[in-house]
Amino acid sequence: MNRAVFVDRDGVINDMVYDEDEGRVTSPVRARQLRVFPYVASVVKQLRRMGFEVIVISNQPGVAKRQFTLEELDKMNRKIRADLRAGGTHFDAEYYCLHHPEALVRKYRAVCDCRKPKPGLLLRAAREHQIDLSRSYFVGDALMDVEAGKRAGCKTILVGHLNTFMGSMIEQRGVVPDYVVPSLKEVPQVVGSP
Ligand SMILES: [Mg+2]
Ligand SMILES: [Zn+2]
Repeated sequence: MNRAVFVDRDGVINDMVYDEDEGRVTSPVRARQLRVFPYVASVVKQLRRMGFEVIVISNQPGVAKRQFTLEELDKMNRKIRADLRAGGTHFDAEYYCLHHPEALVRKYRAVCDCRKPKPGLLLRAAREHQIDLSRSYFVGDALMDVEAGKRAGCKTILVGHLNTFMGSMIEQRGVVPDYVVPSLKEVPQVVGSP
């Protein structure tokens, strides 16, 4: 059985963007806005060297909401892969949920079992890559990531800072991450300690 470090995409692999109209940070909707964090390739390389499979698990409802096309999503993902390739590494797999219950695009309108916080994508990845979930980690920057990871039986690592808002959400929902770290950069240290 393999071990994996599952990683969320937006906010973990690439930076969020500031949307002026919405007045808040959101996921990028164009490849040209997407900026991969500078340490990602070296972290992925290190984790793979430690014997983990590194697998992306991401909700991408933007196509369903007509925020971008499938081609643009592909372009964003190719940009991330190119960055990793330049650093001499790659993901072992990538899994995306394209559904949304209120999708504008009919074919993606569904209450699916793969949209986080549901664990569907993790369970599928585990099946297809013979992964022991109890010895694996899920790294995400949102509570839905922690929830999906817990439901799948993984250890969970929340990327970010425990501000008052996050703290009260954790308390309210009873979804407590096993670890909190500032960024993906600290993850090899967490998963490497006995
Ligand atoms: Mg995220
Ligand atoms: Zn889905």
